[in-house]
Amino acid sequence: MYLPKNCAQIAIEALYRAGTRGVEGVALFAGVREGNTFTITQTIIPLQKAGSVEDGLIYVVSGEELERIGLELYDNGLQLFAQIHSHPGAAYHSETDDAFPIVTVLGGVSIVVPNFAMGGVKISEWAIYRLLPNTGWTEINGKQKEKLFVINDDIPAPKQVSVKWYKFWLWL
Ligand SMILES: [Zn+2]
Repeated sequence: MYLPKNCAQIAIEALYRAGTRGVEGVALFAGVREGNTFTITQTIIPLQKAGSVEDGLIYVVSGEELERIGLELYDNGLQLFAQIHSHPGAAYHSETDDAFPIVTVLGGVSIVVPNFAMGGVKISEWAIYRLLPNTGWTEINGKQKEKLFVINDDIPAPKQVSVKWYKFWLWL
């Protein structure tokens, strides 16, 4: 799964901002799939509510908002691959995280970022889980994490750029 650095940074900044208000944040990664290659092209920051409950912090994204995002992704030919959310302290998939994921597709990824995302884009600090058929949300360890997510610096140039250039060239 290819994760462009700027897509990761948009997510981390949103989680960090939530953290400055003392709450957890959540973001989503969507992109395109070609065979077994998943390329993230978009970070979505859903409208969300967050606060504290008896046993900790919680974030909530409404059903309407999820439906809106689903339609928008469908219209743009994108698929939801991963969710990423922050914890105030240690990164792990809580019972709530297991029970109420936004990403529900098998093979989907859920990332938990520790310390309100103060560590920036640092995969080694993140807890990363995949939804597997037999074991449910299953933690990916050590080097497997860096195999699962390849951070790349360059996002491919949008198609429109080359189209404009081509038209211009023809016109000349
Ligand atoms: Zn959590």
